[in-house]
Amino acid sequence: MSFLIDIDMDKCDGCGTCYEVCPSGNFSEPEGGKVKVLEDMRDECVGCRACETQCPNEAIVITEE
Ligand code: SF4
Ligand code: SF4
Repeated sequence: MSFLIDIDMDKCDGCGTCYEVCPSGNFSEPEGGKVKVLEDMRDECVGCRACETQCPNEAIVITEE
């Protein structure tokens, strides 16, 4: 099972919550008011949805592939 991690960059303000809560290191440290999904870590996502539920701006959507 794998998961698609999508960030709406228009909503992201770089608060860093996703970076802090993700147990799999899927996000970059905030830089310039944004985070990125680390492409080489995508397979490590365990689908816990901590990022999706804790993002204050509802910028992240996790989809099961
Ligand atoms: S938790 Fe949401 S707003 Fe904060 S850095 Fe992550 S995607 Fe951006
Ligand atoms: S669903 Fe969980 S493991 Fe996947 S990116 Fe979000 S916080 Fe990380």
